[in-house]
Amino acid sequence: MTERHDVIIVGGGIAGLTAAWRLLQQRPDLSIVVLEATDRPGGRIRTELLRREAGRFVIELGADSILTTKPWARDLCLELGMDAELLPIARAERPTAIWRNGQPVDLPPGLSLLAPQNLDALRETSLLSEDGRARALAEETVAPRMSDDDESLGSFVRRRFGAEYLDAIAEPLLAGIHNADPDELSVHATFPQLPRMEREHRSVTAGMRRLPPSTGGSPFVAFHNGIQRLPDTLAERLAPIVRFRCRVELLERMSPDAGYRVTLTTGQHLTAPVVVMATPLWATRALVPPVAPASRPLLGRFKVAASGAIVLAWPERQIRQPLRGYGLVIPKREAQPFNAITVMSRKYTGRAPVGWSLMRFFFGGFRSPRTLQLDDAAVLDTACAFAGTAMGATGAPEIVRIARWTEGSPIYQVGHLETVAALEASLPPGLFVIGAPFRGPGIPDVVRSSTDVANSVATSLVSSAA
Ligand SMILES: Cc1cc2nc3c(=O)[nH]c(=O)nc-3n(C[C@H](O)[C@H](O)[C@H](O)COP(=O)(O)OP(=O)(O)OC[C@H]3O[C@@H](n4cnc5c(N)ncnc54)[C@H](O)[C@@H]3O)c2cc1C
Repeated sequence: MTERHDVIIVGGGIAGLTAAWRLLQQRPDLSIVVLEATDRPGGRIRTELLRREAGRFVIELGADSILTTKPWARDLCLELGMDAELLPIARAERPTAIWRNGQPVDLPPGLSLLAPQNLDALRETSLLSEDGRARALAEETVAPRMSDDDESLGSFVRRRFGAEYLDAIAEPLLAGIHNADPDELSVHATFPQLPRMEREHRSVTAGMRRLPPSTGGSPFVAFHNGIQRLPDTLAERLAPIVRFRCRVELLERMSPDAGYRVTLTTGQHLTAPVVVMATPLWATRALVPPVAPASRPLLGRFKVAASGAIVLAWPERQIRQPLRGYGLVIPKREAQPFNAITVMSRKYTGRAPVGWSLMRFFFGGFRSPRTLQLDDAAVLDTACAFAGTAMGATGAPEIVRIARWTEGSPIYQVGHLETVAALEASLPPGLFVIGAPFRGPGIPDVVRSSTDVANSVATSLVSSAA
């Protein structure tokens, strides 16, 4: 038997759940269904709560923070009444460190958007040679490129601040965000503020000076019980319309005006005039081209990097020289088996019992692809060896969790925004693609772009009940 709906949303990650929520708020008259392949909401958002004799550990296997300077995800949390669950990032006595020649060196304070706000700190940093410092500090004297054409992030930073600044500071800062080669990343799609400052103020340094002062609010928030609370709350509110263990294996267009039919692996059929694909790229690539042939070459252009994270907890007495800030980022040129380490127990309060250090080591992507080839036991050995070198950790960690993500990070290549626009234009009426691969890889951008699609569906669709 075929079920009929007004809107079918495929994928119950933050993209699909946000689109469903925002659509339902505006159009409660519509029949909407969210089909999620697995038995849980959230996709790449995944928290594990562990109870041990020592107390509770909150373990984030995927995303852990929500950036508040892009307000869309925090606003969604407030709209869902989750104010009391939000947890601001803890104040760290030291900034994040950068690994250089076998030891952690503090990042100059006042670095924002990969560019310096505090030139004095840059003057003193040992991360750059004298020539490297002089070149970065001369950014204001470099003639601006007034073109609107896209450029790689590597080319932009090298042109404005010099090659040494790129390799020593800007590239490793990307480790936690894009996990990709800066010479491949589009500056327009990743940090559009930078070329805008160059165009409007003739230099990034001048543009940074004109930024409004920080309001003092927390730049990142998490949740007391882990970030899984956000997709869980959305799924609870949407309970009647979210279905788990429903993997879509086929998408068909019935006739130009009759909408779409999806087939589940169980053989069940559902139809709707609107289908929103909120799946990872590999699934979107498999399902969409048969109904939108022109999308095939465009979907083929997008790239993703596989990545992984190993979460380890030691009693603090087993760590002789703890990292002092939120953690450590590791430049590509240092050729280490990890990209970054986050001290989760320092970043947010209540992540581990008092006297415990909970850390996450990231691997894969551009910096450490070979670590991904290792089996779990070898990843653990490698992480323990690196923790011994970097912070004098001794003995086996008491908690070990490993997560591997085949689509860890989308790589927004030069020309990304043009490819996304062409892809969207290649889709037949009533078919949409949303999620991290397209219009912003972090949760706030995914919430914003999914809301945009929900808004346009809400205004365009006539209810089947009308
Ligand atoms: C290690 C890591 C750390 C991160 N840290 C942060 C962070 O701190 N802050 C931040 O803002 N962002 C972070 N991100 C990015 C963030 O997690 C993603 O932007 C976001 O979760 C993507 O959501 P999505 O809905 O687009 O995709 P997904 O979460 O991948 O959801 C897609 C869903 O589709 C389902 N699906 C797949 N195929 C089918 C099918 N055929 N039928 C039905 N359902 C299907 C999947 O099961 C999945 O649930 C991180 C990502 C990773 C991997």
